[in-house]
Amino acid sequence: MPSFQILISDARIVQPDGRVHSADIVLKDGLISEISHSGDPSRADRVIDAKDNFVLPGIIDTHTHMGDPAFPEREDFTSGTAAAVSGGVTTILEMPSSIPPVSDPAAFTSRSNRIAGRAYANIGLYAGAGFDNLSEIEPMSDQGAVAFKTYLQRPPLGREREHAGMHAYDDDQIRETFSVVSKTGKLLVVHAEDDATVSRLTSKFRDEGRNDMGSFLESRPAAAEVRAVKRSLKVASHLGAGTKLGIAHISTRNALELLAQYKLQKSFRIYVEGRPDYLLFDEKDALRFGAFLKTYPPLRTKKDRAAIVEAINRQTIDYFGSDHAPRTRGEKQIPDLWRVPAGTPSIEILLRTLLDLVSKKQIELASIVRMQRTAARAFGLSNRGEVTVGSIADLVLIDLKSTCRIESDRFQTRSKESAVVYDGLKLTGKPLITIVGGRIVMENGVVLKETLGAGQFVQFSQVA
Ligand SMILES: [Zn+2]
Repeated sequence: MPSFQILISDARIVQPDGRVHSADIVLKDGLISEISHSGDPSRADRVIDAKDNFVLPGIIDTHTHMGDPAFPEREDFTSGTAAAVSGGVTTILEMPSSIPPVSDPAAFTSRSNRIAGRAYANIGLYAGAGFDNLSEIEPMSDQGAVAFKTYLQRPPLGREREHAGMHAYDDDQIRETFSVVSKTGKLLVVHAEDDATVSRLTSKFRDEGRNDMGSFLESRPAAAEVRAVKRSLKVASHLGAGTKLGIAHISTRNALELLAQYKLQKSFRIYVEGRPDYLLFDEKDALRFGAFLKTYPPLRTKKDRAAIVEAINRQTIDYFGSDHAPRTRGEKQIPDLWRVPAGTPSIEILLRTLLDLVSKKQIELASIVRMQRTAARAFGLSNRGEVTVGSIADLVLIDLKSTCRIESDRFQTRSKESAVVYDGLKLTGKPLITIVGGRIVMENGVVLKETLGAGQFVQFSQVA
């Protein structure tokens, strides 16, 4: 009779500070119950020989748009979390934009009710915070929202309904929204693009009849991000020590410099998120791929890309979110570029993009490990984000050495036909086995369908 479920033998474990050691990891009742040099294979249901490969904490993807239940043709929690675990992601934090938008308690409940039994990876929910739903913020915090999301720029054309209750435009609205969220002790994550700049340039180019990717890139300049980041920092700094500001998908060198300075002051908490597309592509790729690489904010320059790598190493960037935004191929081919929904189905390349940087010696493996711990603390995911005894057994076994080309038709996302931008990318390093709550949900590229339901609704449960 086995006394524990899984033994991972000969695993290498890297600590957030970079120390590495080899050990056997024992998983029991969904937890890491033992890390030692003497795991006894005869007492295990299943032995995984890690063959000296690294076992990392399962990746926490801090930013996804599965959209469930509004757009099943693009994705739902089942297909989206199959994609997640296939990429080594064990927890996704889902953004509130959808129909209904998650900006009141009823919508929060209806969305959280869709998780049990339908997910391979854990799902935590953001809630919307805007100037028009201030009274809903505290109740949604009590329901377990992991963080709040506010957009500082107007919703995209035709998508106003999905975005209700998650916008703040002028300083007063931003201040009010911040002050209500900071009372909950949770993070307010902003999408930082200056509304005045983006709205003015977008209408100008549309009026001129321009419909090309170059105009789109110009309509959302780097300065718009810097302005919005500056404004958020200014408002947050007036609110004092309890405030936690998150900046989603940072894209520019100048905004990173500003954030690095503010982080040194430590007058309030700032968390900065990276996004894999900004490491894989620049504006030239956007011109080449057109609408398939239309993202908000848009792709930037090579210098900005280099600044993102540097910001990982300096810890100005705290964690990574894929910003997985599945769209159908048809939606990406709408003739009016301004109406094409932005985003890429990127969750399956999130970890691989970072591992590839490790293989190129641009970042340390320990940085990836540290990001998971920081994300778990920032979003109140207690007992996750670390490979330690007593932690929940969300793990990913990786192969750091093998190189392969990405083939998007092997992706799990329902929107794989719009993932063409990743085709042919040569990346080194990949997840071999993903474990969620002590269960193997992905092994050698295959998602194990019988484990549907391993992913749980996760709530904010500790104050960072
Ligand atoms: Zn997003």
